[in-house]
Amino acid sequence: MLAVQLIRKKRDGGVLDEAEIRAFVAGITDGSIPDYQAAAMMMAIFFRGLDDRELAAWADAMTRSGDVLDLSAIARPKIDKHSTGGVGDKISIPLAPAVAACGVAVPMVSGRGLGHTGGTLDKLESIPGFRVDLPVDRFAQLVDSIGVCLIGQTARIAPADKKLYALRDVTATVESLPMIASSIMSKKLAEGIDGLVIDCKVGRGAFMKTIERARELCGLMRAIGTRAGKRVTCVLTDMEAPIGRTIGNALEIRESIEILRGGGPTDTRELTHVLGAEMLVLGGAAKDAAEGRARIERVLGDGSALEVFRRVVEAQGGDPRVCDSPGSVLPKARARDELTLRPGRVVAIDSEALGIAALILGAGRRTKEDAIDPAAGLVIDAYLGEVIEPGAAPQVWLHHGLAPGDGRLAEARAMIEAAFVIEPADRPAPPVRGTRILEVIR
Ligand code: URA
Repeated sequence: MLAVQLIRKKRDGGVLDEAEIRAFVAGITDGSIPDYQAAAMMMAIFFRGLDDRELAAWADAMTRSGDVLDLSAIARPKIDKHSTGGVGDKISIPLAPAVAACGVAVPMVSGRGLGHTGGTLDKLESIPGFRVDLPVDRFAQLVDSIGVCLIGQTARIAPADKKLYALRDVTATVESLPMIASSIMSKKLAEGIDGLVIDCKVGRGAFMKTIERARELCGLMRAIGTRAGKRVTCVLTDMEAPIGRTIGNALEIRESIEILRGGGPTDTRELTHVLGAEMLVLGGAAKDAAEGRARIERVLGDGSALEVFRRVVEAQGGDPRVCDSPGSVLPKARARDELTLRPGRVVAIDSEALGIAALILGAGRRTKEDAIDPAAGLVIDAYLGEVIEPGAAPQVWLHHGLAPGDGRLAEARAMIEAAFVIEPADRPAPPVRGTRILEVIR
């Protein structure tokens, strides 16, 4: 069938068979199907969806559009974690070494930040010398010897997704659940893993704004994983406020090292413990989540997770002294400005706006080609439900390299102020959830 006939079939609500799907994805990958036809198919799928069989075929075709890594020579169970993207989400950095310290291997292929969310690769690259572009055989070697390696997506991992994602981004078709599910799962299944824990963010600062949509997405990702013979656990977590106290690359590495030393903010620790526990259960290193959590807490408390991180940093070309004295190794911003919020109770925080403010200061990219300032970002000391008293010390610190009169500074300040919804302190306090964990779907 011609591509146009397949587009018409989907547009009119028909069901594509496996051969048709494989041919279409192969055409996208080798360029024989032009962008305009691929984009038209994305729009047809956006409105018509994919049924279970179509979804499985689509995800499998995307996974096999490039290399599927063979890590079968590594004896340890291989479990990865994927986050659908949050503001201040640095969890992979303490999590991967902690899980490896418990005997489960973590072959982690991560992404860069785009838009208001940061990327693990950019964070790691703020450590002087750290390289994320290792060849696949070195990646496999380090996963085997240290138990963890963190690299970027190579051109050979799910190339169909690379093309489709770029097209979806500019054709208003990103928000299609079957497309999101197959995009995420194709990249992860190509890593040669045995199981996957997905941290599905829910709320204002996330892709999934409601728990119902998050559950639906998780159902699709689990179905794709199960058909591929992999176990997938989904943890639905709250994204109504930034994670931890920092947004920005070097700042988040600093906070990650606090977690690796058994400290750090409560929410960041909780996410590391809960996601780590589920990874240990999938990898057979803990009989249940409670045992998994206790093991993760132990390796964070006794320094063994930090030792794994030190080995990773060294093996990937970074300066391992970052583990002992992050302040003297990590880049520092040229300027640090304070911001004091107006008095009252913080009843809502727009994390997306804070992510964009950090981006404006230099911590993120507006386009894929932009350079980032590794030292730029925000340190935030204001929490949901908290009362800010008149005359209180500043709550937000802006780290940047901008000149004092630069318009971007005023723009970022205005966004930060508007991101905190503050009401009179004598109004009843809204209920504040004491945990980020909304639901675990095993
Ligand atoms: N993350 C991905 O990798 N793909 C999507 O489609 C959305 C989020």
